[in-house]
Amino acid sequence: MKYAIISDIHGNLEALGAALAEIRRISPDKVLCLGDLVGYGASPGECIEMARQAVRVTVAGNHDHGAAGLADIRYFNSYARHAVMWTAAQLSREHLAYLAALPLVHVEGARFRLVHATPSDPGQWNYIFTREQARAEFEAFDEQVCFVGHSHQAGIFEMMEDGTVGPAGDHTKVLQGRRYMINVGSIGQPRDGDPRGCICIYDEATGEVAMVRVAYDVAGAQKRIIGAGLPPILAHRLSYGE
Ligand code: ZN
Repeated sequence: MKYAIISDIHGNLEALGAALAEIRRISPDKVLCLGDLVGYGASPGECIEMARQAVRVTVAGNHDHGAAGLADIRYFNSYARHAVMWTAAQLSREHLAYLAALPLVHVEGARFRLVHATPSDPGQWNYIFTREQARAEFEAFDEQVCFVGHSHQAGIFEMMEDGTVGPAGDHTKVLQGRRYMINVGSIGQPRDGDPRGCICIYDEATGEVAMVRVAYDVAGAQKRIIGAGLPPILAHRLSYGE
């Protein structure tokens, strides 16, 4: 089974359209999404519709739950809070109900886990940046592999046979006896210095994991954000992938 796993679309229709075109070309068996369909970008409803068509399973992100009134947005920074409130006002009742109903965790056939933030406490929206944080999170799930998003920084932590944990770059092979925590980056607002959207392709038959970067119409997405009256920084950062 070949999977495409995406995350953090953030209402960026131009980026999602380009990513889905690339996914159609790669032609995986299933597309999975780690949440944050909305927030920051100017096309939340369109992104929910487009993702719903293409994605088999989506777990909830903090912006999805924030827009649906389920996450405490006092802890969001001011731009994110502004964007979440704007997003909630744009969405139909049906779209808000869809976001509210997204699960926090999905386990795919007992083989791997999907969660937006952390496996240890998926509704707390913590980040995994360091190998110490990663080591602690490996204790919190039983499957060999867990896919995460939330930081918008693609990367892989690998736990070796002796329990040591380290980074594995962004191409690797899932090997027997080892475990993996794979951050699939972001479609709509990358923050790892590469402004292109990121898709993770996981081929279970070969164990290959690869991050595929997809260029998109950044200027078009920026124009919509400015036109919607959202904070201009949300448009500018897309140019730099920050
Ligand atoms: Zn996000």
